Amino acid sequence: MIKDIVIVGGGTAGWLTAGILAADHRAAHDDGLRVTLVESPNVPILGVGEGTWPSLRDTLRRIGISETEFVRRCHASFKQGSRFNGWRTGAPGDFYFHPFEAPPNPDHVDPLALWRAAPDGTPFAEAVNFQAALCLEAKAPKQVVTPEYAAVVNYAYHLDAPAFAALLREHCTAKLGVRLITDDVIDVLVEDDGCVAGLETSNNGRLAGDLFVDCTGGKALLIGGALGGAVRDVSHILGNDRALAVQAPYATQNEVIASQTTGTALSAGWVWDIALQARRGIGYVYSSRFCDEDRAREELSEYLARVAPAGAVAGGDARLIKFQSGYREAPWVGNVVAIGMSQGFVEPLEASAIVMIELSAIMLSDTLPADRAVLDAAARRFNKRAAYRWERIVEFLKLHYVLSERPEPFWQAHQDRNCWPERLKELLQQWRYEPPSREDFTDALEIFPAASYAYVLYGMNFQTQRRSVLRRRDAALAARRHVDEITARKRKLISGLSKNRELIEHIMTRGLSRV
Ligand SMILES: Cc1cc2nc3c(=O)[nH]c(=O)nc-3n(C[C@H](O)[C@H](O)[C@H](O)COP(=O)(O)OP(=O)(O)OC[C@H]3O[C@@H](n4cnc5c(N)ncnc54)[C@H](O)[C@@H]3O)c2cc1C
Repeated sequence: MIKDIVIVGGGTAGWLTAGILAADHRAAHDDGLRVTLVESPNVPILGVGEGTWPSLRDTLRRIGISETEFVRRCHASFKQGSRFNGWRTGAPGDFYFHPFEAPPNPDHVDPLALWRAAPDGTPFAEAVNFQAALCLEAKAPKQVVTPEYAAVVNYAYHLDAPAFAALLREHCTAKLGVRLITDDVIDVLVEDDGCVAGLETSNNGRLAGDLFVDCTGGKALLIGGALGGAVRDVSHILGNDRALAVQAPYATQNEVIASQTTGTALSAGWVWDIALQARRGIGYVYSSRFCDEDRAREELSEYLARVAPAGAVAGGDARLIKFQSGYREAPWVGNVVAIGMSQGFVEPLEASAIVMIELSAIMLSDTLPADRAVLDAAARRFNKRAAYRWERIVEFLKLHYVLSERPEPFWQAHQDRNCWPERLKELLQQWRYEPPSREDFTDALEIFPAASYAYVLYGMNFQTQRRSVLRRRDAALAARRHVDEITARKRKLISGLSKNRELIEHIMTRGLSRV
């Protein structure tokens, strides 16, 4: 029987997995699972100022954390999507949004007809949805009276990962019955059948378990180090391999807190800009093949000079992080499951890392076998699902690059069709004649919906020459009606919602009402 779960690693992956398993399987009760987490006192966790997905609201609710406490403790702000600056040509005014809200009723209203019906020159995201307009005004996604986790418009968070791990640690150990061991794992004991029997630690001797979760980040101590699991390298598709990360203060205490993650294209990659409560997390993700570190620091300095208070921070202050895009084709081997950076990592363009942690931990919890006899079948199912999701992530991230007309060698290299995934090539061909639809993404738990592809495609000015046969004769009229509805909703939301900063200040002082 599987009764004892040992998680190695206390970053976002380790603690989220511990929280989900412990809450779902009653670790605080005698009849529940035993969940132990070992974290090293010596190896720091990763944290740069992370963007998340709306799924995190459900995850936090599932494990019993109050939203007020989360916002207060994790320096969190509200995120309503992403804004991409300069990805198409780099000319002034070149930007588009990928908001979380989908166009209205995407199965019944043709988004291209909606776009056509909007006033000339309206960008796609602003024609088919109201959320881009809210981002332009730095609006909050809910009112002060909206209860915890409920939304007026769909939202996620920007957060401070080490503060998040600290909150999760406290919650998991105090309320959910997770046993914490602060120690270094120095050896992994592998049996003849390839399963792990236990872990050797520096000060706590040998730790046994039935199932081990590897959340040791890039080290991948169990799945890679002990079991030799292979990584599928995708750096020929997504070539960025460096990040220069820095924290920038706001100029004043009242400076606007942006409602989206902003990704600004530079000569050999892009800069993320993530607004937290009292500072911004900023960093340049670039390819060392096209840019050396000194030049990258200079470019980052130029960006910081535009957006941060004069003299406050420069590229020279940034921390260099090296990575290679890739993922494990088999993140579950024997009785070891890898979750987090140990499972894989691709550049953080659409913040897909923490959502993959949530999805992996939830799938592990929902399908956790009761008996070791069926581990292999559970592993096959988990691995198939994980591989499908990683493939979709790689394709979707690549889509952001392939339509660029920027002249720099880094951007030109993305035009080489030899480095495009086959499925993306086919879809792009197909989307010349019809917009992305749910028929292209048929998995029940698809990671990016068709609407996300449409936001990127048409944000990058992709042309679809669809046949003029529309589903209804009055489609143009219906589209105009929808455009009017969107415009009215936009006006109402802009006047009814406060600024991001005002909502956060309300939460800090008074909190949100609990349901
Ligand atoms: C530049 C950059 C930007 C990013 N931006 C985003 C973003 O916007 N959105 C997003 O979702 N994700 C983002 N990520 C990814 C995100 O930060 C990680 O997925 C997340 O922090 C989870 O990390 P982790 O828990 O897997 O690993 P880590 O945080 O590295 O944790 C590893 C843990 O393992 C422990 N450990 C290691 N060795 C041992 C040992 N021998 N014994 C015991 N314990 C051990 C460590 O002490 C630590 O607790 C970004 C990553 C990078 C590099």
